[in-house]
Order: sequence, then C-alpha cells, then structure tokens
Amino acid sequence: MSRGDLKVAIVGAGPGGLAAIINFLRVSGIDLSVFEGARELKEIGAGIGLNQNTWRHLQLLGVADKLEEFANRGDGTKIDVENRNGNTGHLISRRYQSVDPDTPARSRIERYKLQNALLSGVPKDLIQLNKKLVEIKESDEGVTLFFKDGTDAGPFDLVIGADGIRSVTRSYAFPDHKLSYTGKTAYRILIPQSAVAHIPDIPQGSCFWHTKATHVYTNPLDNGLFEIATRAVIPDTDGTKTSWGQEVSKEEVVGHYSGYCETIRKVIDAPDKWLEFAIFGGPRLDSVIHNDRIALLGDASHPLSGAFGAGAAFAFEDAHVLAQSIRHALETNGSIAQALRDYDQVRAPHYKALYEILDVNAGTAKEIELAQPELNDDEFVEEIVAKGLAGNTQWIYQYDVTKVWKDYLASRLEDKGSIDQSLVIPDA
Ligand SMILES: Cc1cc2nc3c(=O)[nH]c(=O)nc-3n(C[C@H](O)[C@H](O)[C@H](O)COP(=O)(O)OP(=O)(O)OC[C@H]3O[C@@H](n4cnc5c(N)ncnc54)[C@H](O)[C@@H]3O)c2cc1C
Repeated sequence: MSRGDLKVAIVGAGPGGLAAIINFLRVSGIDLSVFEGARELKEIGAGIGLNQNTWRHLQLLGVADKLEEFANRGDGTKIDVENRNGNTGHLISRRYQSVDPDTPARSRIERYKLQNALLSGVPKDLIQLNKKLVEIKESDEGVTLFFKDGTDAGPFDLVIGADGIRSVTRSYAFPDHKLSYTGKTAYRILIPQSAVAHIPDIPQGSCFWHTKATHVYTNPLDNGLFEIATRAVIPDTDGTKTSWGQEVSKEEVVGHYSGYCETIRKVIDAPDKWLEFAIFGGPRLDSVIHNDRIALLGDASHPLSGAFGAGAAFAFEDAHVLAQSIRHALETNGSIAQALRDYDQVRAPHYKALYEILDVNAGTAKEIELAQPELNDDEFVEEIVAKGLAGNTQWIYQYDVTKVWKDYLASRLEDKGSIDQSLVIPDA
C-alpha cells in the first residue's frame, strides 16, 4: 500500500463479495477493507448449482481445484436434468451430461462448499465480521460506513455493495428502490438419500417436477444427501412475509404439494422440518452506480431469486468487470467515474437480456392460455415446459465476460490508439 492507494470497501462476503475480494487483491494500488454483517461465515443448508460459467469463473478466481472432487463430468450415461409433469410423474424431457472433457462440469453442491472454496482465496483476517452496515454518509473526503455495533469506517474512495438482496448500500444509493414479496415462497432442505431411497420412481439425476403454478426440484447430491427445493404460491395476507432461511414444520409445507403425484407427495413427506425462503423482488435498476463512488454487484444489484440457477456466476461476472474497470483506470491514470461507467455499460445489457427472458417466459404462459384455452392442466404444463426448453438460454452458461470486457474496452478506446492487451487480460 502507498499513500496514493485507492481506498476500497467491500460490504458483504457472500459469493459476490468473496469474488470481488479475490479480483481486487490482484489490482495494485488498492487499499482494501471488507465488512460482513454476520458473526461468522456460515452458509445455510441448501444446494447450489455450478453451471459451466460458474466453473469457468472459479477457474479464473483460482479456486476451482477446491471443488474439483465434486465436479460431475459426464460419461454419456449420467442424467443431467429431467423435466416431469408434477401431477402425473410423466417424463417430458431428459438430457444427459456432456462427455466433452473440455467442457467445465455442471454440478450441484452444498452452498458452504462453494463458500469454503472462495474463502481459500482470501487472506485470513481480511474480512471484518459482525460489521452490519446500517448507514452511509458522503462528504468531500469520501464515503463513510456506519455499523450496527456503533463503529464506523472510512472515508473510502469506492464502496462496493455486495450485501445481497436486502442491500443497505442499494437502499442508500437508490432510496426509491423498494423490495416487495413476489407472492412466491421457496421451501428447501437437504436430507439423507436413505430417507427417500424407498420411494418408487425416484429419479437418479436432478429433476424438475412442474405443475401449472409451482414446481418441485429433486436432486441426489454428491455426498449421500438429497436436495429438495420447491416453490409455492402463498399470498402475504397480513404483509408480514420476511422470512429467509427460517425453519418451518413439515405441516406447513406438505399441504402445498398434495395435488402432486405419489412420488413427490412421498418426497415432500420425508423431511421433518424445512427452511422457508419468502422470495422478494424489486424494480429493475438500469444503472447500479452512484455518485462515482458506489457500485452494487451480485444480488444487491439485480436479485434474480434463483432464476436461471446462475446467480453466483452473475455475481462473479460483476466482480470481474468491476475489478477490471478499476484496474484499467488505475493503470492508465483514468478516472474512477469512467471506470464505474464502464462497469455499468458492460453489465447492464447482460441483465437486460436476462430480464427479457423472464418477461418472455411470463408472457408465454398467458399466450398459451389465450391461444389454447382447451388445454387441461397436464397439457398446459407439457406445452409450457416444451416452449421453455425451446427458448435459447444456453448463451447464459457460455457467456464469456472476459471477452465481452476486452471487446468493450477495445471499442471504447478505438479512437485513442493502441491498447495494451495486458491491461485487460484477466489473471489466471
Ligand atoms: C431459492 C434460490 C435458489 C438459488 N439457486 C441458485 C443456484 O442453483 N445457482 C446459483 O448460482 N445461484 C442460485 N441462487 C442465487 C444465489 O444464491 C445468489 O445470486 C448469490 O448468493 C448472490 O451472491 P451475493 O454475494 O450477491 O449475495 P448473498 O449471497 O446474499 O451475500 C450477501 C452477503 O452480504 C452480507 N450482508 C447483508 N447485509 C449486510 C449488511 N447490512 N452489512 C454487512 N454485510 C451484509 C450477508 O451476510 C452475506 O454474507 C439462488 C437463489 C435463490 C433465492
């Protein structure tokens, strides 16, 4: 560090914050501080999907080897994913894992394993725990952070809000942005595979069981555990839905799935308790930077609530581009204001494209209802799943943000002479 170092604070040490730490530690000229609200870094008992893009980023972050033992490389016989009619159990589609040894593996693991892998790339003691951000103030000197424990830190030249869906940083930078309950709740749990082994027709790979309004996801994990993740439509009649990872009883869950086929009714009946996640959303932000000093990333910027099963990869992409844009500014005597604009301009179109897919999917259900009112629920489910599978979402998992960043920078600098490629090629 030197007197001239850029003082950067990262708030939040989830997947996005941890990836930002690793990226920013590779940029010279940064004096980095990290604040995490939790007393200890501990992930909840749920699974997380690592798609091809997530793996690519784990490689870029230098921590993929910590998860290699869980990588599910295809041999042509392993089922990657199935889609079934939840009412009848009828198989709608089945895909086998790729056998291409060069394709990063698709796997599903317990969330804490991803966290541990990322933590292996972070120096011990860098993350200040029990620092729950409650207030932000700006002055000519920079941004000062105030924490629940009565302490403060700063002023900082740049604050990165990686504080998740209920981001305090976002509330400060975009006070009009208000979260609201989506009307959907997820119930999730990991149980031993032995608890469901007796159930007939239990699939051996990951499987979505669809009905008209909800779905259930089942998946045997790598280590003898069985993951169940569901969605239920639950109106918030008294405006009190806030829970996130809260334990609820079996009785609160089973009723939502009584119309499903016997296999799923038995699966849902297997756990004694569940974790409940009320799903929140908010207005879409076109820009996630504020006053040339604050940038949001990951769920703090665009909470997608598990859509696409790639939220961690989106947060990694954000962290990569943000660090590259700051690196470029520092190495070329550019401004932080321009760096943040670069970050916004690279990431905003990507999120816009993701939101468009969600809009199209939402529209598809309405279109089918209008065009084919004669369909019964089972026919409707099969039609909508088929239409969803036909949609092009593969680019999300093949999206190479390192190339996008390089192309963006090259085009921005086009009129300014040659570019030193070493400035934009990410560290391995
Ligand atoms: C039901 C569901 C299923 C999902 N499935 C997948 C999947 O299969 N694959 C996938 O890639 N993604 C999945 N996601 C998305 C993924 O979990 C998120 O996109 C990812 O965790 C975002 O990481 P993040 O670091 O931005 O936020 P978070 O993981 O929310 O981390 C935020 C961090 O900030 C801390 N923090 C919060 N507030 C403060 C504060 N005020 N002060 C200081 N620290 C604070 C928190 O303690 C936490 O450590 C799913 C999400 C949901 C809801």
